[in-house]
Amino acid sequence: MYKITEDCRFCNTCITVCPVEAIEKTYPIYRINKSLCIECGTCQEYCSFGAVIHI
Ligand code: SF4
Ligand code: SF4
Repeated sequence: MYKITEDCRFCNTCITVCPVEAIEKTYPIYRINKSLCIECGTCQEYCSFGAVIHI
C-alpha cells in the first residue's frame, strides 16, 4: 500500500502520472484512494521529495 506523507510539497506530479487517478487532493495531506490504486509505484518513482512511501 502506498501512502503520501507530510513531506509532500503539493507539486501534483504524482497526480499527473498516476494511471488510474487514485490520488485525491485532500487537506492537509493528499490521499491515495486504496480502492483505485493498482500499486504500480509510479507516484513514488516520480516524487522528487520522497513523500510517497510503501507500507
Ligand atoms: S509528487 Fe510528491 S510532492 Fe508532489 S504532490 Fe505527489 S506526493 Fe506531493
Ligand atoms: S501506486 Fe500507481 S496507481 Fe497507486 S497511487 Fe501511485 S501511481 Fe497511482
